[in-house]
Amino acid sequence: MNKVYVIGMGPGAYEQMTVKAARILEQCDVIVGYTVYVDLLKEHFPEKKYLTTGMRREVDRCRLAFEEAKKGELTAMVCSGDAGIYGMAGLMYEVGEDYPDVEIEVVPGVTAAMGGSAVLGAAVGHDVSLISLSDLLTPWELIEERLKCAAKGDFVICLYNPSSKKRSTYLKKACEQILEYKSEETVCGIVKNIAREGEQMQILTLKELAHTQVDMFSTVFIGNRQTKVIRGKMITPRGYSI
Ligand code: SAH
Repeated sequence: MNKVYVIGMGPGAYEQMTVKAARILEQCDVIVGYTVYVDLLKEHFPEKKYLTTGMRREVDRCRLAFEEAKKGELTAMVCSGDAGIYGMAGLMYEVGEDYPDVEIEVVPGVTAAMGGSAVLGAAVGHDVSLISLSDLLTPWELIEERLKCAAKGDFVICLYNPSSKKRSTYLKKACEQILEYKSEETVCGIVKNIAREGEQMQILTLKELAHTQVDMFSTVFIGNRQTKVIRGKMITPRGYSI
């Protein structure tokens, strides 16, 4: 049967890809993805046929993958991090309605929240809420509502897509919502280029975060009431008494 894999390649470094993802990529004939991620793979899988589309061409990219699979090529659609978390896995199933003869298999990957949490120490040590600040596909009012609910529930919050050129004020606006329920002193972290060249992390308070500019290659972590700094790292305890 013709088959397409939807693969989460992890945050960047080859070492942070799962063994399963790497094995499947080795077997595949064709790798489809967004230009930036595909470039990260070429070094490790040089023999493959690569097909790319730019940002905002997601539906076309899915069709491209299905068309290759239909021709009998074992095809992989790659996404950064995990393929399901703000990735292509869901869209592949939706577009796949037009390709009932092509089998789909999703292979999970290390998402930015997990990769970044480890860089920070143990930022996500307890119940967590992942929220994207991108309002391209979700209305801002709904994003604000979710931010407030997560803050009220004292979840650790991981913000994906925290900023872009057009959305430079969104992190500040998000912090303002969160500050309605969380203290100004809440421990927060920013990790840029997780598992990529130029990886950087920073720990700061929620008050400071509200006045900090980040870019789209960063993931932002907002702690819960228990989150603290140990050895210069951001640690959210599970609650064991020691
Ligand atoms: N599917 C991806 C998320 C894609 S949304 C995943 O599971 O990680 C894109 C956002 O993810 C970025 O704006 C950033 O907030 C975060 N992100 C993805 N890779 C990252 C990396 N290597 N370093 C820091 N943030 C990253």
